[in-house]
Amino acid sequence: MKAQVFRGVNQLSYEEVPVPEIKPDEVLVRVNVVGLCQSDIKKIRYPLYNPPRIFGHETAGTIAAVGAEVQDWQVGQRVVVLHHIPCMHCGYCLNDNFSMCEVYKNITTTAGFIPSGGGFAEYVKVPAHIVQHGGLIPIPEAVTFEQASFVEPTNCCLKAVKKAQIAPGQTVLVTGAGPIGLMFIMLVRYFGARAIATDLLPTRIEKALSVGAEAAFDARDPDLVSKIHALTEDMGVDTSLLAVPSDKAFFQALDCTRKGGKILFFAEFPDEVEIPINPNILYRREIDLMGSYSSSFRVQSLAADIVFNQRIDVDALISDRYPLRDLDAAVEQAVAPSPETYKILIYP
Ligand SMILES: [Zn+2]
Ligand SMILES: [Zn+2]
Repeated sequence: MKAQVFRGVNQLSYEEVPVPEIKPDEVLVRVNVVGLCQSDIKKIRYPLYNPPRIFGHETAGTIAAVGAEVQDWQVGQRVVVLHHIPCMHCGYCLNDNFSMCEVYKNITTTAGFIPSGGGFAEYVKVPAHIVQHGGLIPIPEAVTFEQASFVEPTNCCLKAVKKAQIAPGQTVLVTGAGPIGLMFIMLVRYFGARAIATDLLPTRIEKALSVGAEAAFDARDPDLVSKIHALTEDMGVDTSLLAVPSDKAFFQALDCTRKGGKILFFAEFPDEVEIPINPNILYRREIDLMGSYSSSFRVQSLAADIVFNQRIDVDALISDRYPLRDLDAAVEQAVAPSPETYKILIYP
């Protein structure tokens, strides 16, 4: 089969590799669509992981083979493949910090080499732990593979929205209106809150409005803070969701968030960035700073429900489709997005 193998920083190689062999308790899935995620781009472009690996984790496909001991799944079923499932009994899992669980981190789907998701290949192997604990989700007939590939990113965004306790009637600032920021806007709306967005690109500002933001501004607007105060009875927003790794965006969010409000870091910053902060901001203004990384088992069924029942319009997020062979071009486009670039999907 063909796969895109990570051979070193910025070195993707489109290669012939063996189809993974499955054990009696494993499942093999033919990949129909896999989403390109910001985290894939980081793993490809920064020295975070030793090669060789096959990345890709927003996978929707068709079961191609099942091991002799697998009872609940049949060849031909359309499925979302989750690349991690927590153990559910370690100290992290018992406190709902599933993405810190060692089992969650270490057991993953693979298309060969060091297991790393494996979605950027024609076939991906699903290990027993993931097969047995809810990591395969059947795709309803009315749902396309493309839509289904959004279950994982929806889970990650939903986890953040839940962690920030976004509730009806609140106002939320979303900094950055790329694919993640746009999904946040949709979810904030779904939870009955108002969304205000910022971005640097005029097209993204327009797009934010078209997917449901009540207002959207250029992040460089010198009157941004007063405009947001004008929309929030001079209090500021209840919560800010940072969907761009920018310290400027953080300080802007700090100025725009009300006393007692929350700021949630969703984007991964470059490691060298440090943000100086006066602790009295946390004390006197009671601003809560929080982060949300990866997905949560707890919101998995809700994430699937939201996508499968089209409670948010994930199709509106798709801007480009690339064949797997051109993954490097897709990464280039995501790194230097054109004004119309949003979610990029990859077809093996
Ligand atoms: Zn992802
Ligand atoms: Zn655990």
